[in-house]
Amino acid sequence: MNINILIGCDCDPDRIRFNPKAKDEQRFYWEGFFTLAENFNKIREEVKLATNLTPALTWNLRADYQTEYYEGKIDYCFNQYFNTIIHTNKYAAIDEIAWHHHHFKLVNSKWLSVFDDGPWMKEHIFYTYTNINKYDIHTVHTGELIMNTDSMNAYNDAGIKVDYSSVPGLANFTGVYNRIDYSKIETNQPYIPSRSDYQKPGMKEENTIIELPTNTVKDSLLEFVSTANYCLRARTFDLSGISHKKVFIPINAHPYLFKRFFKKLISLNEIGTTFISYFHADELLPDSYKSPEARVLFKNEYFTKNIITVINELRNKGMNPVFTNFKTVATTATR
Ligand SMILES: [Zn+2]
Repeated sequence: MNINILIGCDCDPDRIRFNPKAKDEQRFYWEGFFTLAENFNKIREEVKLATNLTPALTWNLRADYQTEYYEGKIDYCFNQYFNTIIHTNKYAAIDEIAWHHHHFKLVNSKWLSVFDDGPWMKEHIFYTYTNINKYDIHTVHTGELIMNTDSMNAYNDAGIKVDYSSVPGLANFTGVYNRIDYSKIETNQPYIPSRSDYQKPGMKEENTIIELPTNTVKDSLLEFVSTANYCLRARTFDLSGISHKKVFIPINAHPYLFKRFFKKLISLNEIGTTFISYFHADELLPDSYKSPEARVLFKNEYFTKNIITVINELRNKGMNPVFTNFKTVATTATR
């Protein structure tokens, strides 16, 4: 049986934990994005040498009001990719260019995440999509994984074909940096979201957008580690609004965590025919840039090791791993 493997990368500006230059809040640093082809291609080649398979990448490029504010043009990242970066990416033909959309709103000179103002989000979706539509965009991965029924319907109506922002079983109702609710999604199976509830499958032809959830699994040890990491990042120990029935471990995280996560996904049959994971471009910057905590969790050698784990674990179970992208899966296959 073929198992589709989809790896996405959120191409955000560098975060301070991964690039100390990002301390300057007056501008964006995109070093992670500009060096992603070089950094990920090195990983692809190591994987190919070990397994004879070449991973494909879905580049989630930022386009939103905040990008427009700092870079002057809302399609700045798309311009940079198609005019410059593409020439350094010898695997461009197997990659997909997708959209990474942050719902940031400037309020009293501070950027705040909007997660529940449907009309504002709808306007933001249509305004941005109109400006990047010419790049043939099929797929969206939202900033901070924020989604609600209004925004899901607006992405659908604008013309987006695939979303993979959902992380089944995870919710955070009081968090300071993101608020999400995927508590009602029980499995990692794809579905067409209902127009009245983005977490539920709709009647046929209600929407055309397909939700391909990022794989999550139930594991109490990993849940503890992931919650502790959240507490450190959010600087809170108030867990009252958090509902983590499952956990997500990114494909470039420490191999001890990732291997446990992936083996659990297989043993609990939480893969179906698709494995989806994502990471951030700045996580591939040199280790010397990273804060001590970031260095413990993320190293490029971990990424190579984890992709090889995915391939070997699937092959050991008699399954055939196939690296592909979201556009291809949405147009040719179902799980
Ligand atoms: Zn982001």
